[in-house]
Amino acid sequence: MASKSDTAVVTRFAPSPTGFLHLGGARTALFNWLYARHYGGKALLRIEDTDKKRSTQEAIDAILGGLDWLGLDYDEAPTFQSKQAQRHTEVAHKLLAAGHAYKCFATQEELEAMRAEQREQKLPLRYDGRWRDRDPSEAPEGASFTVRLKTPIAGDVTIPDAVQGDVSVKNEELDDYIILRADGTPTYMLAVVVDDHDMGVTHVIRGDDHLNNAFRQLPIYSAMDDIEGGWPLPTYAHIPLIHGADGAKLSKRHGAVGVEAYRDELGILPEAMFNYLLRLGWASGDREEITRAEAIELFGLKGVGKSPSRFDLKKLENLNGHYIREADDALLAGLAAPLIGQAANTALLEKAMPVLKPRAKNLNELAEGAGFLFAKQPIAMTEKAAKALDADGRARLTILSERFRAEKDWTFEALEATTKSTAEAHELGFGKLAQPLRAALTGTMNSPGIFDVLVLLGREEALARIDAQAAPTA
Ligand code: GLU
Repeated sequence: MASKSDTAVVTRFAPSPTGFLHLGGARTALFNWLYARHYGGKALLRIEDTDKKRSTQEAIDAILGGLDWLGLDYDEAPTFQSKQAQRHTEVAHKLLAAGHAYKCFATQEELEAMRAEQREQKLPLRYDGRWRDRDPSEAPEGASFTVRLKTPIAGDVTIPDAVQGDVSVKNEELDDYIILRADGTPTYMLAVVVDDHDMGVTHVIRGDDHLNNAFRQLPIYSAMDDIEGGWPLPTYAHIPLIHGADGAKLSKRHGAVGVEAYRDELGILPEAMFNYLLRLGWASGDREEITRAEAIELFGLKGVGKSPSRFDLKKLENLNGHYIREADDALLAGLAAPLIGQAANTALLEKAMPVLKPRAKNLNELAEGAGFLFAKQPIAMTEKAAKALDADGRARLTILSERFRAEKDWTFEALEATTKSTAEAHELGFGKLAQPLRAALTGTMNSPGIFDVLVLLGREEALARIDAQAAPTA
């Protein structure tokens, strides 16, 4: 069979819309997208909505929203597998007419009896090919039938997988599976192959839970190539699944598995998720921080590891901290404002970003860290802040209040110089002044540098907060 590797690259992401976009799916989407972008090919999206009972519009929207958030764009409008049913059926009929598929008239009861027998004899549960060589005229008049693919019986089949290497199975392990159901509808296994062919897909990059399907899909390509030519096999790349920290396949019990939870609840930036998913199963040396542009330049299937990768929230958060520090201040202010609520003032937030963002690993921390800017009197105090405002602390605030009030320039440098000279004049360590000041201004003992805080709050608000805590002068 011809190989498609010499033609332009076409990849596809083919999610089944039965739930949100989970981390594994997002990583598959990313790898397909990067591969296409790296080779200047096409990235396509196919929604595999053939299971009408489990597919929902909500899931389609969540998947599209997640891909969009990650910045994965597609070169054509998404294809919906359910809309191609007629074409799938047409291919099934071609296979049937050419003798690569056959009608199976076995009834449900018969098949159940067959399986019961296999179970009893501890044999693998497989269709035994009972209609493979029988003539349909032997079936009762008007009996319903399924169409099964005539898969090779002897020898074995090898897939040269771009990630797993050569993987083989014995053909006797693959049974003649159904491609058209009794009601005439095509099955998933047929639909995938027909769609991949019709979309001109050259590289099938997907989770290795689909490796078994690849062996079953292969005979459809060979049969159709026999019948009409032009059905070369795609290059397969089955990527190992993502595991949780405990080594078990990633699932809900490991925490959030939907990409939207990382966006909406955990305050992760798309750049961080993009970078993290990229590193989850792919490496270029030991580099951790890789931008989108670098990823496009560097990505290839050679860098994809063979063993499952482990999801590590800490690593994701560290990367997120990196991207928060790199992010544009106005953009961050826009993202943090809704988390702060009505009191938030985006202009002030943006101004504060340079001192806020180095302290946050996610948007929630960023919003929390910005809270003091918009606090209203009386400022709520943490326990530690309240302690710093004991009698001594309050007395020091009184001194500072007077000195600050006389300040001509409300700037970082001037306020710093004043505070230092006040500390010296009163023979106090700098911390003895800074601690009650921080408490009074922010209600916490954990904030950006105190002079940054003074400047951001502005003279009036800062003095009001200091005076609210300062001991009344005797
Ligand atoms: N629709 C399948 C899934 O969501 C993917 C099929 C494929 O990539 O071939 O698992």
